Amino acid sequence: MISIERIATRPADLGGGMIVRRALPTRQRRMVGAWCFLDHAGPVEFPEGESMRVGAHPHTALQTFTWLIEGEILHRDSLGSEQIIRPGQVNLMTAGRGIVHTEDSLPHVRRLHAAQLWIALPREAADCAPAFDHHPKLPNWTENDCELTLLAGTYRGHRAPVRLYSPLLCLDLYSMPGATIELELNPDFEYGILPLEGSVFLEGNSFAMDEFIYLGVGIDKLRLKLAAGSRLLLLGGEPFGEPIVMWWNFVGHNKSAIAAAQREWESGGLRFGHVEGDDGRRLVAPTLPWSGY
Ligand code: MN
Repeated sequence: MISIERIATRPADLGGGMIVRRALPTRQRRMVGAWCFLDHAGPVEFPEGESMRVGAHPHTALQTFTWLIEGEILHRDSLGSEQIIRPGQVNLMTAGRGIVHTEDSLPHVRRLHAAQLWIALPREAADCAPAFDHHPKLPNWTENDCELTLLAGTYRGHRAPVRLYSPLLCLDLYSMPGATIELELNPDFEYGILPLEGSVFLEGNSFAMDEFIYLGVGIDKLRLKLAAGSRLLLLGGEPFGEPIVMWWNFVGHNKSAIAAAQREWESGGLRFGHVEGDDGRRLVAPTLPWSGY
């Protein structure tokens, strides 16, 4: 018998009218391994002339991990990266001590469907040099009418090329006709399931895409049923074991690290740099919830 924690996602506004389902952090649960933030965007149909436009904003001490299912998004950052991400691809941006980026769906894109996750960096890597990696091809195979794509970590002898700083797993499962699949898990990891389309059945319970399923540590086998046309992400990781603070787009290992990052963003300091040609859409940080930092 597996203990299942059912968590309702909540709507969050990315700005510019783009509403996403946020599965982490929630009141019940902050993290799964180093996964500290899970946004599910779409599937959304843009009316003519509308798109997703997320202006320049900073990040620290985390990696943003974007998995694209439908549409095309242009990523630009303060390292000078300019990269279109397409379905089946992953963008991984390592913020380290600081980076700025913009994310815009391309003008011709009518349908968008993506997951954007954040990975907290452990203390020793929190201030590492920023980096951006585009992964156009990931390990992909089929089992029992289910397509599996390994987005992060290792699984069944496959290894995703994504640069990680703590032991993690991210696996996308999709089944057109519907499927039942047995997964072998690492009992040292905690796991979560994010339904992205359709319905998922686990131990006689049904879950839809406005829900997140948290499974603790100690599980070595998991039997999942996907209804026809369903997709989900299986996320896992070693329990993170370090307290982190999250505020706006910053992760830090204490409040003063976050307050310092926010001051430097507000003052236009050199730490973050800027996205070439895009200074006009700089997002403003909300006032810090703590005083004295
Ligand atoms: Mn971002």
